[in-house]
Amino acid sequence: MVETANKCSLCNGSIDHMYQPMESWGVKGSLCSKCYSKKISEYYPGTHDRVNKSN
Ligand SMILES: [Zn+2]
Repeated sequence: MVETANKCSLCNGSIDHMYQPMESWGVKGSLCSKCYSKKISEYYPGTHDRVNKSN
């Protein structure tokens, strides 16, 4: 039985939407949406703030 295809490399949870990590993250395999967005904010802090600045 092969059941590892849809596991997140970081949290080991099941993946509903599969995301491919950037090479610079040093992550093998696929990420779930939660870990992906977490990594994004880790590696690109402030990037989203500029767009989201509403007050
Ligand atoms: Zn995950």
